[in-house]
Amino acid sequence: MNLFRESLSATDDEDKSPSTARKKSPAPRKNRRRNKPLKVANQLSPKRRKEIEKAFERKSPSPKKWSRESGPKTHLFDRKRIKPGSIRKIDFNLLDVEIGDSWPIPITIIHGSRPGPVVTILGAVHGNELVGPLALTYLCGPNFIGPGEDIDPSMLSGTIRIIPIINLPGYRRQSRKFPDGRDLNRNFPGNSESNTTSRIANRIWESIIQTSDHIIDLHTAAPGRTNMPQIRANLAHPESNRMARSFGIETILDNEGPKGSLRRAANRSGIGCITYEGGGSNEADPESVQVAIYGVLNALRSLRMIPGYPNRPHFRILASGSVWIRSDQGGLLDILAPAGSFVDDGEVVATITDPERPGISHDVYSPSKGLLICTATHPFVTAGTPIGHLLPMKSGIKTLQKRLDEEGCLIISGSDGEPPWREDDDVEDISVEGEWSGGSPDAEWGQNEHPSPEEES
Ligand SMILES: [Zn+2]
Repeated sequence: MNLFRESLSATDDEDKSPSTARKKSPAPRKNRRRNKPLKVANQLSPKRRKEIEKAFERKSPSPKKWSRESGPKTHLFDRKRIKPGSIRKIDFNLLDVEIGDSWPIPITIIHGSRPGPVVTILGAVHGNELVGPLALTYLCGPNFIGPGEDIDPSMLSGTIRIIPIINLPGYRRQSRKFPDGRDLNRNFPGNSESNTTSRIANRIWESIIQTSDHIIDLHTAAPGRTNMPQIRANLAHPESNRMARSFGIETILDNEGPKGSLRRAANRSGIGCITYEGGGSNEADPESVQVAIYGVLNALRSLRMIPGYPNRPHFRILASGSVWIRSDQGGLLDILAPAGSFVDDGEVVATITDPERPGISHDVYSPSKGLLICTATHPFVTAGTPIGHLLPMKSGIKTLQKRLDEEGCLIISGSDGEPPWREDDDVEDISVEGEWSGGSPDAEWGQNEHPSPEEES
């Protein structure tokens, strides 16, 4: 079955545009076996695999409105009209009020001259997560949007909405949450008659989310930790599965997302949605920003909205579970293996010292061979504090080791310049079986002053 492939077989006219010729990507090899079954057998757990296969059996054709015959139409958003082949910057009010602050946020809408899907890309659902806002600000700039650039309205099929900072009140206060202390990403689809955050969630839901075909939500880790760039998606949701792969990076964590999260709510409404996680909050990790920009462009190319072929990683890790590395002592932490490190069974990943008992230190060992996808950045630990999040690996190790830098960290596709174009057949899938402890990838980080136990950052 042709489960997990983005459709790349057709070469439409737009793919032969001058803009494509500008790209470094070579043309696809013609003799590829395009219908070769995917290597499903070595992915995820057998139970999860069955769920994913079953979900793909319920196939729905792409809506008629995307077909060329339907012709270009004006895009309507928040009672504003955007003509085909044009760009419009709109202020969208988070609150529907006559007096008081309505919290307007900027939205850039690029409406293509050809029909196609509506893709919404969001940053700073959590106001202190700056990688999304930076990536999307750059993406709205002249290096990416305009005649002859990656996003050229005259070449675009469909509509792209870019929202660099959705939680503007939180961003201005450098806070994850809205001013009423609530987390927007736990309040979808929201309620127009409930608390402030829930009203905002509902307005976003009605005006922005439900009118989108695909959503890309850009995040970072919560305070006190940092994430290696990774995608989170429910792989049993076909559209989200395709988008997760199309982003073009190595690591995909398969889960539904916490209750009230945008991703979970969108999927339940049949809207494809993926979460990108890269770097930490309150910091502007340039590598995570770059990977996010390339990822978004890859996804748009996979959807055949913009010209060119998406870049592929050398391999993909599809993970349905992980292991937590915890401190057995209290004190101050010195991380030796940063996020993104490939570590050996028994390798020392951190040391802990206690200034109240000077001169003594304890080592923290990795319980197995694998990839550290997240590490603590806050040095203060007590016995039991998670200090790293590990994807244990039994297969694909040689493939992964070929992509490590001199410090043993995975070189994320897209982080070392424009990665070469690859076909999906060349991408090796590596399975990581297991279960998320506590039910979600971030559950074990615990409450502290930041996310609640079932948080996803
Ligand atoms: Zn977040």
